[in-house]
Amino acid sequence: MKKVSILGSTGSIGTQTLDIIRRNGENFSVCALTAGSNTSLLEEQAREFKPEIVAVASEDAANDLKVRLADTAIRVLSGEEGLCEAAAIEEADITLGAIVGIAGLKPVLSAIDAGKDIALANKETLVTAGDIVMARAKEKNVKILPVDSEHSAIFQCLEGRGELKKIYLTASGGPFFGKKRAELENVTAKDALKHPTWSMGAKITIDSASLANKGLEVIEATHLFGVTADKIQVVVHRQSIVHSMVEFVDGAIIAQLGSADMRTPISVALNYPVRSEISGDSLDIFGTGNLTFEKPDTDTFRMLELAFSASKMGGTMPTVLNGANEEAVSAFLNGKCRFLDIADMVEGAMENHKIKENPSLSDIFCADSEAREFVKVKFKL
Ligand code: NAD
Ligand code: MG
Repeated sequence: MKKVSILGSTGSIGTQTLDIIRRNGENFSVCALTAGSNTSLLEEQAREFKPEIVAVASEDAANDLKVRLADTAIRVLSGEEGLCEAAAIEEADITLGAIVGIAGLKPVLSAIDAGKDIALANKETLVTAGDIVMARAKEKNVKILPVDSEHSAIFQCLEGRGELKKIYLTASGGPFFGKKRAELENVTAKDALKHPTWSMGAKITIDSASLANKGLEVIEATHLFGVTADKIQVVVHRQSIVHSMVEFVDGAIIAQLGSADMRTPISVALNYPVRSEISGDSLDIFGTGNLTFEKPDTDTFRMLELAFSASKMGGTMPTVLNGANEEAVSAFLNGKCRFLDIADMVEGAMENHKIKENPSLSDIFCADSEAREFVKVKFKL
């Protein structure tokens, strides 16, 4: 039986992970759960899965949760320290990282330091500090198993198959596919939250609409698979059936297909190296219709090129791209800026930044703060 610590258990990935565990009770048990502030759902999850520890981001949320769980023996922790302790809990065999944003970085590092294998959804961890995370994972001999669907696909295509030439990273194109800049001037958060094929948390859904998500995924892939960004071709594939492809040196291309259900990549990571049955609809191969592959429109969706540039520049630049994007997306979700401002803000923060090569963790958090401050000042937030 694998014992799992789940970071971000109340989110889209977290709840789907618990769904898999609920249906495979003989294979898994839960030893820690963490969330930002949704104490009512966390209480429900804690009562069902009976972890030893639950942790939440703030002291206030922890006080609320302590009252809610007063009749149980579950320990309630709070703040960064509490999240890190839950991530590294002694009993865990594997820690699933599904916090959104750079907030997930320290807990994931804490789990790695404690020798836990990581099932990683939280792409911002690798975007902001990929070199540090991968080096520490190697040092501690822990596996980083991708949960992001494209990276899970690439991971599955690569397994034991030799030298890769190119990665085809697929993108659905998001809700604004086919639109030009002028048509995006006045789109609202509500418009951007209507993703055509995937149901996900708010931040990643906005990132999917701007193609920032695909940009972050390019950087994520460079770290996971040890390639430079020029070996990665982003392909718009509207049907979200091919989850990515790998071309090998001999010209063979291997793809991974499946329905648009995150429970498959979560299951691949949690059960690795074996596979386990999950209930749900398998892909109706005769119902797929035509599969299409197109070049992305990088003039309209500028975040993609900005991410390629940040990856090439290296050092602290991907952290700045990520920090400015996190802050701008939050402003957009709160109605404080326009959709097209997001890329402008990120570009401005990148132009404003002096790159630090081989950054330490503290350089990374400095660069993140600097980028956020830049956006806040520009938007007068
Ligand atoms: P979500 O917003 O639905 O959930 C985020 C979780 O993190 C919640 O449990 C929330 O309480 C917690 N959280 C938020 N801020 C926090 C903080 N400051 N401190 C501690 N906990 C905090 O997001 P999601 O869609 O589940 O995505 C989670 C991560 O997985 C993201 O990095 C995303 O890019 C990645 N991912 C998600 C999907 C998907 O289908 N949802 C697919 C691929 C990758
Ligand atoms: Mg993805």
